[in-house]
Amino acid sequence: MSDDGAPPSPSGDHPLRVAVVGAGPAGIYAAEALTRQDTVPVVVDLIDRLPTPFGLVRHGIAPDHPKMRAIRDTLHRTLDHPNVRFVGNVEVGADIALQDLRRHVDAVIYTYGAALDRHLGIDGEDLPGSLAATELVAWYTGHPDADRARVEAALAAVRSVVVVGVGNVALDVARVLARTAEELEQTDMPQHVLDVLAATTVEEITVLGRRGPAQATFTTQELRELGELDGATVLVDPADLELDPGAEERAAADRTVARNLAALRGWADHTPQPGMTNLRLRFFGRPVRLLGEDRVTGVEVERTAVDGDGRATGTGDVEVLPADLVVRSVGYRGIPLPGLPVDERTGTVPHDDGRVLRDGRASPGEYVAGWIKRGPSGVIGTNKHDARETVGSLLGDAADGRLTVGGPVGDLVEELVARGAQPVLIDDWRAIDAAEIALGATYGRPRTTLHERESLLAAVRAATARI
Ligand code: NAP
Repeated sequence: MSDDGAPPSPSGDHPLRVAVVGAGPAGIYAAEALTRQDTVPVVVDLIDRLPTPFGLVRHGIAPDHPKMRAIRDTLHRTLDHPNVRFVGNVEVGADIALQDLRRHVDAVIYTYGAALDRHLGIDGEDLPGSLAATELVAWYTGHPDADRARVEAALAAVRSVVVVGVGNVALDVARVLARTAEELEQTDMPQHVLDVLAATTVEEITVLGRRGPAQATFTTQELRELGELDGATVLVDPADLELDPGAEERAAADRTVARNLAALRGWADHTPQPGMTNLRLRFFGRPVRLLGEDRVTGVEVERTAVDGDGRATGTGDVEVLPADLVVRSVGYRGIPLPGLPVDERTGTVPHDDGRVLRDGRASPGEYVAGWIKRGPSGVIGTNKHDARETVGSLLGDAADGRLTVGGPVGDLVEELVARGAQPVLIDDWRAIDAAEIALGATYGRPRTTLHERESLLAAVRAATARI
């Protein structure tokens, strides 16, 4: 308390204590925006339920995109900032309740992403051999929570795959499955993932869009990359690319759509090549149900027609695409954190310029950024702008006296340890980092990801007796 009894404003001696929940790109960009200003003194605890930072940069960006993954080096600068403390291996809502966390800090920014997969809501979706893209991506990026047994069983003896959805995640999944063992050899995928993929000979991959090529959400660079794969031929049905004059005009007005169409048309005369995987891009097909008894054998697909507003309707024309693996890549949704409101419809936290709304009113000291704020869209860099908007609201509230520094409550990490948690701090993460680089070196690679949570924690224990 200050002399007049009012809670003090943040100062050098009593900086504003901010917890950021989620150490992915949105969380790290929020920490960066908080520490790259000198109006309000701030210290940040960057909390993650994994023992590792970087969120989707580590467990989302495809391992065969090393240049994109290198953004972690830039993000690391914020982790190294003296006013930022990485607190990994701590699950808010399990290791510490949200209300208890809030007692330890003056403000919280939720940046924990959108980890749940969306469903198709059709029969057969739960058959063995039907996976969510999130499950496959978690597995091939070595996420500790990946269900190895389930994914590896689904991949066993797979010959034909249907990927439902035509966004960038669908292309990532199709591309990784189409790559040769040699193409994946230098990635940081766990060794057992490389072994399983090397033993998987996929002959046919169909990427299926329920609307037309002009409505696909993939981006041109990612699309063109399919044409550069060593072991796959991209096949497109020329009939899918015939647009009526109105649709052609609308497509030409959108640069991404025009470029996508040009790339697709460049493949329209391709034919299957012996010894190569057929990578088909199919449009105007809506999955109606997955077929099979004990495991998936195919997808029943209804032909659609798309109107001038981009809406698809079924034509009643049904065909079966044979498939022994179906991957649904139809978007993500946020999970409610116990004690935090989430809009069921959008899977996002209601907010006003990043200020969390409870019952329609801004809740003091609570903010949100990233996918749990705006939904699963945009590239990694989109989170920078998004986090800055949220931090702008937070700093504005501090400047207006709406955010003040509370009394002494003890150190958050000590509190977590007292509650039986095993927080992983920045030096512990460095030990994991070094262990992954050392493991990679044994295979002649820059890095090999440690998959199991226990292996990650063992790397910490080998370097420190702290946990
Ligand atoms: P997305 O771009 O929203 O794609 C979802 C796809 O699922 C769309 O094609 C959508 O079709 C389709 N879909 C949704 N419901 C469906 C249903 N019931 N039946 C059939 N299809 C359905 O999402 P995403 O691919 O998950 O990507 C998420 C974000 O991450 C995007 O912003 C993406 O660009 C980004 N990302 C970027 C990169 C990169 O830059 N390399 C890589 C991965 C992800 P409709 O359009 O018809 O709904």
